[in-house]
Amino acid sequence: MGENYRQYVMLLTSLFLSLTFGFQVIIDPGHGGVDTGAAYYGANESEITLSVSRLLAKKLQDTRGINVSLSRTKDVSLDLSDRPKFAHKQKGDFFVSIHTNSSPEKRATGLEIYIENILPADQDSLFLAYRENQIHAGAAKPEGRPSQYREKYSAEVSTILDDIAKSHYLFSSIEAAQVLKSKWLEDRGGKARIRQAPFRVISTVNMPSILVEIGFLSNRKEAEILKNPREQEKIAETLYRSIIKYKESVDKRKI
Ligand SMILES: [Zn+2]
Repeated sequence: MGENYRQYVMLLTSLFLSLTFGFQVIIDPGHGGVDTGAAYYGANESEITLSVSRLLAKKLQDTRGINVSLSRTKDVSLDLSDRPKFAHKQKGDFFVSIHTNSSPEKRATGLEIYIENILPADQDSLFLAYRENQIHAGAAKPEGRPSQYREKYSAEVSTILDDIAKSHYLFSSIEAAQVLKSKWLEDRGGKARIRQAPFRVISTVNMPSILVEIGFLSNRKEAEILKNPREQEKIAETLYRSIIKYKESVDKRKI
């Protein structure tokens, strides 16, 4: 009876929380303002990431049980540390940073989904992370992930709790990445890879997070796709359906 009652209360609480506050998605359109990101074939990364992010936000806004916030809604410059700060302030449940890729190898194509690195990153990923981190960070000093428990608990206990939370975020981030990878292949075909890289923006947020490179702007064919508003709509739809599917599996875990 006691256990059943406890489970019942937990179920009601989680339903109440999700109905009251919803699942908070933070969309981070990469770059902006003076930082245009990659620029090829007459297109800027910062413009494409903002268009796709807005389309995605609109779809999420119209969905029950989901709230959405954009780290930028206009073409403005944001420091790398502003993005996690914004996500924490909004009490995000999931963070997605949207970018377009580039490579000196012009034939490189496809989707790349990055999660926080736990293994040593390969050379290409390090190069990309260096480029993205540089562009965003400017001269700002790198900040680590803030402790969530330091105020309530002793240093040693809060370190353990922060580690547990970090493993949980990583597990969820991998799950979100896998859902997106299979949806992308189903909807759009081509190539899709999950990779790890020390991107500051996803390694300093206290929530499951992925960084998505939605295609290579350095590839002429993909640049045309990325610039096309109809294709941007389709990309946003695939991202949207993936987030919904990921949320459903998070909800199942709660119950
Ligand atoms: Zn970028």
